[in-house]
Amino acid sequence: MIKEKNLVKNLQSLVKIPSFRDSIEVSKWIKNELEDFGYDVWSDEDGNLITEIGEGPGFILNAHMDTVEAGDGWKHGPFRGKVADGKIYGRGSSDCKAGIASMIEIARVLRKNPPDRRIVFTFTAYEEGHPPEKNGLKRVLPRLKNIEKGLILEPTISGKKIGIGVGCRGGMGYVIDIIGEMGHSAYYQNDKNPIYRFPHLLRKIEKLPQRKMNIEIIGEEITDKNSVTEIMAKEGPNVIPSRCTISLDRRALPDEKPGDFRPEIEKVCKNVLGKDYSIHEVRGLQGYLFDDEKFLSECERSVEKAGMKPDARFEKARIDGCILYNFAGIGTFMMGPGSIEQAHQLDEYCEIEGLVKATEAVLNVILFNHK
Ligand SMILES: [Zn+2]
Repeated sequence: MIKEKNLVKNLQSLVKIPSFRDSIEVSKWIKNELEDFGYDVWSDEDGNLITEIGEGPGFILNAHMDTVEAGDGWKHGPFRGKVADGKIYGRGSSDCKAGIASMIEIARVLRKNPPDRRIVFTFTAYEEGHPPEKNGLKRVLPRLKNIEKGLILEPTISGKKIGIGVGCRGGMGYVIDIIGEMGHSAYYQNDKNPIYRFPHLLRKIEKLPQRKMNIEIIGEEITDKNSVTEIMAKEGPNVIPSRCTISLDRRALPDEKPGDFRPEIEKVCKNVLGKDYSIHEVRGLQGYLFDDEKFLSECERSVEKAGMKPDARFEKARIDGCILYNFAGIGTFMMGPGSIEQAHQLDEYCEIEGLVKATEAVLNVILFNHK
C-alpha cells in the first residue's frame, strides 16, 4: 500500500521548501497535496493544518513543519533534496519532514482504504524552541474534539530499531539573582562580591538529591536533572558587580508540576545567601507519562510487522506530547521515520529504507485490529 517513490518525492519536495523562519510555504504545499487526495483541510495564519478521515473517536497524528536553521558547511546543500546512497539529504529531512512525508502518504492510502476509526492529521508550526504561546500544537488544541490517543511522528529510528517514546520529562527554568553591592574593586572586600558567592551556591545545587521514578511500562528507572546553564555578571573590569545572575534548567519527573520545585531551591538559596537573592520561574512545562500497555503492545507489534525492532523508551528532553497530555488529556507516543541522531546536524539525512518501514509501522498501528 505504501509506495516508496511517493515517500521519496514527498520528502524531497518538503526539504526544498525552507521552513526555519515560518512554515507558511511548506504548509501551502502540504494543504495542496491533501486537497488533491480529496481532503477538506482547515488552516490558520501560521500555517497550522488539520484534516481528518473516518468516523468515531479520534486517533491523532502529528508532525511539526518548522526546522532549525541550516547552518554553514553542507556538502549536499540544505534545501536541494538530494538523494544519494539510499538517503535523502537536507535540513529537516529527519526532523520532522520525514514524519510529514509519511503522514501525506498515509493520507493517500486511507482515501482508498477507509479506516474503521477517525484519523486526525495535524501539521503544526513553531515547535523548535519557540515560546509555548506560539506552539502550533497548542494553538490547534481547541479544535481537537473527541480524540483518544495518537502518535507524534518525530524521528525515532536508531539502526534497526524504531523508538516508541511513552512520555518525557518536564522542562522548568529558574533565574536566580545573587545580590551583591556594586563598588570600586580597589576598595571593596570580596564578601560583597556576588561572583564569589556563586561557587557555594553551585555546590549546594549539585548536591540536591535526585528524585527517581520507576517507569513500569518500559521497566526503567528515570531521574530528574538540574543544570546551571548560564551565568552573567558584568559591570566593568574594575567594578564589583551588583548582581550575579544564573539560569537553572530543570528536567523534572513527569509528576512534577511547574512551581513544585520552588520551595526546594528557595531553601538552598536562603541557606547559602541569606536574604541576598531573588528567584524567578521563567518557564515551566510539565512532562508526561502515557502508560497505556495495550497501546504500547499494539505499537510494538506494528513495528515488528514492518520488519523493524521496537524500542520503548522514555524521552529525556521535552517533547510535544506533553502539550496534548497536560492541556487536553490526550495520550500519545512518539514514533516516526528519520533518525534521532540526524536531528539538527549538518548534512542531516533520512534513510529511505527506514522512511518506508516506519511509515508502514505507523499505518499498521492505525489499521490495527482492535476487536
Ligand atoms: Zn522535531
